Amino acid sequence: MRVRFAPSPTGYLHLGNARTALFNYLLARQQKGAFVLRIEDTDRERSRPEFERMILEDLQWLGLDWDEGPDRGGPHAPYRQSERIQAYRERVDWLISEGKAYHCYCSFEELEGMRREQTSRKESPRYDNRCRELTAAQKAAYQREGRRPTVRFRIPDRSLTFFDLIRGDITFDTSLMGDLIIMKSDGLPSFHLAVVLDDIDMEISHVVRGEDHISNTPRHILLFEAFNRKPPSFAHMAMTLGPDGKRLSKRHGATSVRELRNQGYLPEALFNYLALLGWGINDDQEVFSRQELI
Ligand code: GLU
Repeated sequence: MRVRFAPSPTGYLHLGNARTALFNYLLARQQKGAFVLRIEDTDRERSRPEFERMILEDLQWLGLDWDEGPDRGGPHAPYRQSERIQAYRERVDWLISEGKAYHCYCSFEELEGMRREQTSRKESPRYDNRCRELTAAQKAAYQREGRRPTVRFRIPDRSLTFFDLIRGDITFDTSLMGDLIIMKSDGLPSFHLAVVLDDIDMEISHVVRGEDHISNTPRHILLFEAFNRKPPSFAHMAMTLGPDGKRLSKRHGATSVRELRNQGYLPEALFNYLALLGWGINDDQEVFSRQELI
């Protein structure tokens, strides 16, 4: 078993993400597998090295030690997406040469217009795949206008079912999805492309992540298939909510590991608390040792 925790260094380590990291850690330790830490820092505007440093410190403080990661290397280094750009570009070129991806020259304004029209027709907005079959002359004209293309992955039309280890079978109709941007016009990979290629290259066997990613999973599975790889197993964990059933936010008080740490909570207490959030084994045991949880 090879699992990973893949935070984006755009803020402090959030409690919901810490819980996801914790279950990945417990699984890896129980199965004598590997726990990989990967930094998803392709969002250049929002990613900061300070946040990366603090996320690593907070994970360490919680006792979630990883086996491979940006600070300690490993067989699949580098573990920071910003250092893997070349690997992403090569594979995008390959997808294009296979006819599985293509350049899209639509401008932001055109995409917005498309979205508005679809919404006014009460359709759910999606890219209408208009650049799929551009002729060489059309492409040349766009290039002369100075447009810088994105690269889109052709989403095949089909019904796709995957087995989620927590929720069971989940089915999506992929014909409702517009072709997916995998490379932005600045030549940086999209989240979807980077995640899938990292999971392939880092030989991840189980993707355990938040439920907010469920709708991304069919797209990711199609990308694994496009690269002729068997997708990993998926488990989507419920979101950590406030007492009012809403996403955890500032209104609920402390939402980051760092804040609780500064308030004086002990790492063992937070570890135990996060581990028992959302399920129970019996009513009279509230404190578990790390070994028992593993
Ligand atoms: N960077 C993503 C997030 O913070 C994680 C993606 C994944 O686990 O696949 O939500």
